[in-house]
Amino acid sequence: MHEMSLAVAVVDQVETAARSRGAVGVSSIELEVGELAGVVADALAFCFELACAGTVVEGAELITRTVPGTARCTPCAEVWPVGMPPRLLCPGCGAAADGIVSGRELQIREVRWADPEAPREEQHQPITEKS
Ligand SMILES: [Zn+2]
Repeated sequence: MHEMSLAVAVVDQVETAARSRGAVGVSSIELEVGELAGVVADALAFCFELACAGTVVEGAELITRTVPGTARCTPCAEVWPVGMPPRLLCPGCGAAADGIVSGRELQIREVRWADPEAPREEQHQPITEKS
């Protein structure tokens, strides 16, 4: 399952960060998940619970922010929400989009450590899935 390997990767990365700063626990992890990334948030949350059991991350709240998918058309500079399934033709001129602007993100946005003294940490760390 795709979500399981992602969950393991998230736990892994946060665990490594926790170890390097000597954190005793994690209060919450905020993820940015693009609409087009093909991730089911519920499944990811479920897998996360399993993946963090017995680690320093156990008990952390997983917050998932969905980033809407948008595409752009160069000739008319139009940017539109592509939706799901993705609509890749420009609503202005009908040309094919030449790029997805957003919606493929998959990254750890912020980690809050259980230590009340610790500041929130902006991460913006892409999640690297292991095969
Ligand atoms: Zn256009």
